[in-house]
Amino acid sequence: MAEKILAVLEQREGNLKRVSFEAASVAVSLASQLGFEAEAVVVGSEINNLNELSKYGISKLTHLKNELLENYSPSAYSEMIALFANESGAKILIFPNTAMGVDLAPRVSVKLNAGIAMDCMKLEVKDNDIIATRPVYAGKSLIDVKLKSGVKIFTIRPNVFRPQPVDSATVQVEIKQVENPNLKTKVTAFKKSEGKIDVAEADIIVSGGRGMKGPENFHLIEELAEVLGAAVGASRAVVDAGWRPHREQVGQTGKTVSPSLYIACGISGAIQHLAGMSSSKYIVAINKDKDAPIFNVADYGIAGDVFEILPALTEEIKKLKS
Ligand SMILES: Cc1cc2nc3c(=O)[nH]c(=O)nc-3n(C[C@H](O)[C@H](O)[C@H](O)COP(=O)(O)OP(=O)(O)OC[C@H]3O[C@@H](n4cnc5c(N)ncnc54)[C@H](O)[C@@H]3O)c2cc1C
Repeated sequence: MAEKILAVLEQREGNLKRVSFEAASVAVSLASQLGFEAEAVVVGSEINNLNELSKYGISKLTHLKNELLENYSPSAYSEMIALFANESGAKILIFPNTAMGVDLAPRVSVKLNAGIAMDCMKLEVKDNDIIATRPVYAGKSLIDVKLKSGVKIFTIRPNVFRPQPVDSATVQVEIKQVENPNLKTKVTAFKKSEGKIDVAEADIIVSGGRGMKGPENFHLIEELAEVLGAAVGASRAVVDAGWRPHREQVGQTGKTVSPSLYIACGISGAIQHLAGMSSSKYIVAINKDKDAPIFNVADYGIAGDVFEILPALTEEIKKLKS
């Protein structure tokens, strides 16, 4: 029987997250190169969109189910996934490198005595083994890692590996009811930050850089974001200056994003910023320096002053929408 690669999926409020499809696609692609079988596992209570996974070529999905497992519990989730991986004989596990994944994957690696490479940006098969590329030294460098352990765990950076739909695949879903999960800690409430769209999941992002001159001018970014239903993003320079929160930072040491539309306002386009946003489908740059590197990746460029262009753009879009 073929060896197994297991994609460990993530759900939130009863829906598989997009990054789960990315993990599934990575597992399927590695499995086909290594001659392995790709399976998936998810922990949770009710999950609505399990069948969506069928698009990505996973042959079997196991849902470890209990109503107490709706929210992440480090003790219960890690115990159950390690047990499941052991029983299924999985040799490679792929986790999303999300807040949950970075907590869960190392716990599972300890239980399985597995080597782990986190925040992988590339996974390549060479000589029947996997070479993982991941950032080190706070993102200043990238290294290639080969794990030597029997069981290997990789966490993948969200929005770097695109989900790859395959033709006419089906997924066999098995639901395993879990008795008495080991809930050492229990989530009693789950609060979303009010009205804010996460840049990592947004379809449109309006991002501001040092060209905005100060935090008091970010209302111009927020107003454009509001009319477009977009998330607000930021360069590291403005986050370091304390103008914007870290959760908005886009780039190598911030979040990797892949929206349909990315509007960069007063952002120079340093290599570390491009590392996080250049895979956006359409990039619009507004910068008063026509030679700014951001224009090298932009599909549409506006060479001009953000303080003139942003209010006019917002006004025009409002008119179009009304
Ligand atoms: C290890 C490491 C990791 C890093 N990680 C990240 C990261 O994750 N994300 C990130 O963004 N950076 C990152 N950086 C920092 C990066 O190198 C740049 O310093 C940063 O992206 C610059 O931010 P900025 O473009 O907002 O500012 P600046 O480089 O100062 O550019 C401001 C731009 O605004 C334009 N401008 C000024 N006034 C106006 C105006 N009125 N109208 C229009 N345009 C105007 C200017 O022409 C200029 O192009 C990292 C650096 C290192 C060393």
